[in-house]
Amino acid sequence: MSKKREGYVFFQDVEVTADWPQKILNAQEITHYRIDSNNYRRIPYGQERPRWDDSRNCHDCAVISGQFHVPGCDVERCPACGGQVISCSCDR
Ligand SMILES: [Zn+2]
Ligand SMILES: [Zn+2]
Repeated sequence: MSKKREGYVFFQDVEVTADWPQKILNAQEITHYRIDSNNYRRIPYGQERPRWDDSRNCHDCAVISGQFHVPGCDVERCPACGGQVISCSCDR
C-alpha cells in the first residue's frame, strides 16, 4: 500500500491536489468562449488537432476524454484560432 500524500486526493484515477476535483467540475460549466463577439464551443479533451493520446488523463489538468480542460491547461486548444489557449492572442 502506498501512503496517501498529504493534501492530495485521487480523482479519476490520478492523484491531484485536494482542491483540484472542484476545479475540474467547475470547468465543465464553461462550455463556450466569447471571442471577438462570437461564441465558440470549447474543445474538449480528445478533440484537439493534432490529437492527444486521450486514453490517459490530460497530463496537465487531469481531465479525462470528453471533458473540458481546467482553465490554464497547456493542452487546451483555442476554438477560434487553433492555437494554445494559454498562449494565443484571442481576447476572451
Ligand atoms: Zn488539460
Ligand atoms: Zn486563439
